[in-house]
Amino acid sequence: MSNMQTLVDQFGENVFGLKVMREYLSEAAFKSLSSTIHVGATIDPGIANEVAEAMKIWAMERGATHYTHWFQPLTGATAEKHDSFLVPDGEGGALAKFSGEELIQGEPDASSFPSGGLRATFEARGYTGWDPTSPAFIKYDAAGATLCVPTVFCGYHGEALDKKTPLLRSMNVLNKEICRLGKLFGIDCNGSRSVVTLGAEQEYFLIDKEFYEMRLDLLQCGRTLFGHSPAKHQQLEDHYFGAIKSRVLAFMADLDKELWRLGVPARTRHNEVCPAQYEIAPMFEELNLAVDHNMLTMEIMRKVADEHGFCCLLHEKPFAGVNGSGKHNNWSVCGPDGKNWLSPGDNPHDNAKFMTMICALMKAVDVHADLMRATVATAGNDHRLGANEAPPAIISIFLGDQLTDIIEQIEQGGANSSKQGGLIELGVDSIPRLPRGNTDRNRTSPFAFTGNKFEFRAVGSEQNPSAANVVLNTIVAEALDEICTKMEKAVAAGEEFNAALQSILGDIVKKHKRVLFNGDGYTEEWVIEAERRGLPNLRKTPEALAVYRTEKARSLFSKYHVLTERELESRYEVYIEGYQRVVLIEARCAVTIAKTLIAPACISAQSELADGIKAVKEVSGGSVSGVLSLLGDICTQTEVMLAAIKTLEAKIVEGDIPGMIEATHALRVPADELEGLIPDYLWPLPSYAEMLFMM
Ligand code: ADP
Ligand code: MG
Repeated sequence: MSNMQTLVDQFGENVFGLKVMREYLSEAAFKSLSSTIHVGATIDPGIANEVAEAMKIWAMERGATHYTHWFQPLTGATAEKHDSFLVPDGEGGALAKFSGEELIQGEPDASSFPSGGLRATFEARGYTGWDPTSPAFIKYDAAGATLCVPTVFCGYHGEALDKKTPLLRSMNVLNKEICRLGKLFGIDCNGSRSVVTLGAEQEYFLIDKEFYEMRLDLLQCGRTLFGHSPAKHQQLEDHYFGAIKSRVLAFMADLDKELWRLGVPARTRHNEVCPAQYEIAPMFEELNLAVDHNMLTMEIMRKVADEHGFCCLLHEKPFAGVNGSGKHNNWSVCGPDGKNWLSPGDNPHDNAKFMTMICALMKAVDVHADLMRATVATAGNDHRLGANEAPPAIISIFLGDQLTDIIEQIEQGGANSSKQGGLIELGVDSIPRLPRGNTDRNRTSPFAFTGNKFEFRAVGSEQNPSAANVVLNTIVAEALDEICTKMEKAVAAGEEFNAALQSILGDIVKKHKRVLFNGDGYTEEWVIEAERRGLPNLRKTPEALAVYRTEKARSLFSKYHVLTERELESRYEVYIEGYQRVVLIEARCAVTIAKTLIAPACISAQSELADGIKAVKEVSGGSVSGVLSLLGDICTQTEVMLAAIKTLEAKIVEGDIPGMIEATHALRVPADELEGLIPDYLWPLPSYAEMLFMM
């Protein structure tokens, strides 16, 4: 039994955070570093040695022998390369060393990370650079302890080779525009920054490790490529928010403890819709830290699951026919005044600012819906989006009835018109209290306003949430830039503030309201309606990723210095190649399983039946027509499956990616049929029912 106070005391004990820094650093170094962290001031290289030394002492006291720069290459995972603190002292002995230089920059021979051609032309090496805004932490494992220093990962000329670099850039861009808007509203931004806040709700599956190890498809692809649908899966909806089984709860408790020690504010845990599916949600944090923490959370989830005899599946669609897993990306902006700018205020002035933010979001999402779709385009997520369990591939905004009503009033209110017919006048009237949180929900919307934040629900469970937020930050910055430019001009020309704002926002609503949709996003009618409205519906990954190559995307990212054209193109190449590789791996794995596991089982079943029929006839001469018919079914389906293997093999040889997807799926159909026909003791793979229900 853990005592809550003990857990509270342990929170962040494995993190080199401000509390530790104050204790281990001189006052001057502490002040300098904390101002770097809070205001984003550039790091003073003069303090690097002292900080490194302090980190080393602190880490060694906690058992660390090695340090690593911890970064997020374009693979989507995290990367680390350990170096020991130990260096020879030149006299036959050794000492423990960690210099400022080693803290600030690393040069891993990282030529095997995907760079989308960026490094081929520049330099083979990549460089890691310390990100002081995300604190170093210690990771423990059986081998000991390692000090992890979060870093960016760039090429020789600073080309971004990772996910963190553009994230930091996009945060700066948005901060600039937020402060500009703040200035218009008379908010003093001097010295303080706005921050984007993120709370990433994380869905996952847990299955018994023994089953996992018996499934080549899970081992190699993270999802099942075969599996007969069990009689009971999620129909009764008795798992959602149900009592948590004790074995699972033991895992969750250990997970929480480990995350808390790492300073990850894990908060909520519950059963999800599908049996064996769960969710963990943290308290929201500043974006950069929240992304690091989400990556760390996924890693620790896998580790703790393993210690509990589970395998944690983070794939977007581990099992066909039941719900897949997503990551709900709760995004908001905390202004330089320390207030949530997506929270309606108490007075007309604050409401005007709030409505400006809402309109900026509307404009941003409508103009760049295709780009938002691109950020969630992965092979895994293709099985989930638009499958009536997750939002469709059409990006729209849910605002709820009340806010939509206000938006409509803004549209109707003219710039100079006084209040007429009960229309809300910006900056003059208060808006009614909006319902918060759970009261006004639409789970079918990909981008929903939930009272004081937007929830982007299309992000895949296994994805690094960076890309989605890079795009959100940048497109909102662009929209605010345009709004501020117009407002600044209007104000300079002596126009009345509220009238000018009303007119600008009214225009935005007119132009972009087509992106608003409060109805059921899972219906076929919405697909048709969205098409009528001209909203993009990019169903699959290749067409979605192609958006990165459009002129619109290029000029957006280069205008705001978030990604150069080359960096953007390199990302496209890495992602599309990654996608193709996943499809190929799945195709080859499906062939292997069908040929070497399923087909032999079917043939055994056939001969057992044939022998049985012969024996029964000899002994009794009775009717065997039912058995013959069963044998016939097995033979037929086996033939269909063997033919499907041939088709898939041909697609693999041709390198036909869409063909492979189709043929992999087609192969599954007879195989799943056969799972329902042949004796259970002959079937070579654990069944869906076993995996989803036995734990
Ligand atoms: P809901 O039930 O409406 O989704 P929760 O309070 O459960 O709301 O929040 C879900 C997630 O959203 C949590 O991770 C939470 O920390 C996060 N969240 C709440 N407020 C904000 C905010 N201002 N910015 C970013 N994320 C937030
Ligand atoms: Mg939520």
